[in-house]
Parts: sequence; structure tokens; C-alpha cells
Amino acid sequence: MGPHDPACLFCKIVAGQVPASKVFETDFAVAFLDIDPVNLGHVLLVPKEHHATLADLPDDLAARLGSLVPRLARSVQAATGADGLNLIVNNGVVAGQTVHHSHWHLIPRFEEDAVRWPWPHVAYEGDGLAGMRDRIALGLQGG
Ligand code: AMP
Ligand code: ZN
Repeated sequence: MGPHDPACLFCKIVAGQVPASKVFETDFAVAFLDIDPVNLGHVLLVPKEHHATLADLPDDLAARLGSLVPRLARSVQAATGADGLNLIVNNGVVAGQTVHHSHWHLIPRFEEDAVRWPWPHVAYEGDGLAGMRDRIALGLQGG
């Protein structure tokens, strides 16, 4: 078995030590209903291995998790009659992450629901846009 944290809520759900309303399970992932849903049918897709954030996921695990998303999205939308769906991953406390075992939210969306997008926006100033592009691009060089 891969990384595991016995104190982690989602590790406990993966291990069956805490109950959850599972909708899907593979050898590397489990999906279950969020206990405090943004909209009814809100599902969490969780890797069985314990990795704190998206950035900590091994590439192959991220790819395998991603491969499940379209099928899950279709099923959530069909079951809820949703008009659309948000896929959201919170990373770090500042981004709203409360369970530090990386997980992906699939949130069905309805025309008249209370969820609001877009979020507030900011603007680049001076050569800020080019500088930002360069810093991110540089960080990606060599993996
Ligand atoms: P995040 O804020 O991105 O870390 O999301 C954590 C999510 O886990 C929240 O949406 C919670 O409602 C959900 N959650 C917390 N405890 C449970 C639980 N026992 N079963 C299902 N979902 C849970
Ligand atoms: Zn965990």
C-alpha cells in the first residue's frame, strides 16, 4: 500500500473505518457523497493513497484519477438532472482546503442555484504579465 495517515479522515474512509456514501471504487480511488454538499449530488473523488495536495500527487496517479472524471461527471449530471458541473480542487488552507488528503469536488450546477461564478478578478500592471509568464515557464523547464 502507498502513503497512508492513520489520523486522516479520508484515509479512514478509504479503509472503511469511517462510513461514507460511496458511489464508485477502483483499486486506486474512491468516490463518495460530500456530507455537507454545495448542491445535492456533490461528489468527492479521492485517491486511496494519502497525498496532501494536488501538487503532491504522482503524475500517474493524477492521470488515473483524471481518467475517472468524465464518467463520474456524466453519472452525477444524469442522477441530479444538473444543467452543468464544476470540478474544483482546493489546495492549502488559504484555498479552502479543510481535509489535507487531496480530493476533487464534482459539484452539479443548476440554473437557479446559490453558487456564484466568476470570482473577483485582478489585473496585471506594467510588465507583470510577461514576468509571471517567465517565472511559471521557467519553473516547468526540466519537469
Ligand atoms: P475541502 O474543503 O476542499 O478540503 O473539502 C473537504 C470536504 O469534505 C468538504 O466539502 C466537507 O463537506 C467534506 N467532508 C468532511 N467530512 C466528510 C465525511 N465524513 N464524509 C463526506 N464528506 C466529508
Ligand atoms: Zn489521507
